[in-house]
Amino acid sequence: MDAKTNRQQEWLLLGTLVAVFGSRFVGRICDHAHDARFFLKTAAGLADDETERKRRLIGQADSLLSRMMNETELLLMSCGCAIWSEEDERYLEMMAQRIEPSEDGADGAAVLSRAVLKERERFGRWLLAEDMSLALNGLLVLAGRLRRLLRYERKRLAEETDEAKHRALFPEAADAPSCPVCGSPMRLRTAKSGANAGSRFWGCTQYPACRGVREIIDGM
Ligand SMILES: [Zn+2]
Repeated sequence: MDAKTNRQQEWLLLGTLVAVFGSRFVGRICDHAHDARFFLKTAAGLADDETERKRRLIGQADSLLSRMMNETELLLMSCGCAIWSEEDERYLEMMAQRIEPSEDGADGAAVLSRAVLKERERFGRWLLAEDMSLALNGLLVLAGRLRRLLRYERKRLAEETDEAKHRALFPEAADAPSCPVCGSPMRLRTAKSGANAGSRFWGCTQYPACRGVREIIDGM
């Protein structure tokens, strides 16, 4: 299973867990968690080349999670419970739990639900606790962890989008040689005048500052 699929399974699983555990709290915590999970599920179902749409959906999920965390913090405070700091043992212990997406790399509800059952057991002692403070703090830790993953994913998708745009503008860029004069990448150009008018050659991308050229070899 490649790293990309693995990461996607990890955030979808975490998003599902947040929604599952968030269901214990009715109202906005539950609603935001469910909506965030819906966006993540939709994003995970998109084709690989729908980078921009995926990034937007993940962004929407992220802002819903932010609201959910806000509601959770308020509920904790209204119950007179303290919010764990990042040095709190319980915080650290929860952060140390490894999330394990499904082993076979397959998608689908049945596979996801098996993974959820396993993680539910792992995180249950915090998130299914009768003690409100444990359950709500646990939910905050899990959602925070998910948001860090999503931030990373959005950044990666943004880079992918930029690359795709660049490739569309300069399809030759991937195989372009570098300039013999200044070392900059080169791009395909067509001679406009002279004896070679109409023929293609590699020209320096720094033109007109640099006039480095290369012949096209092997029909490239
Ligand atoms: Zn050059």
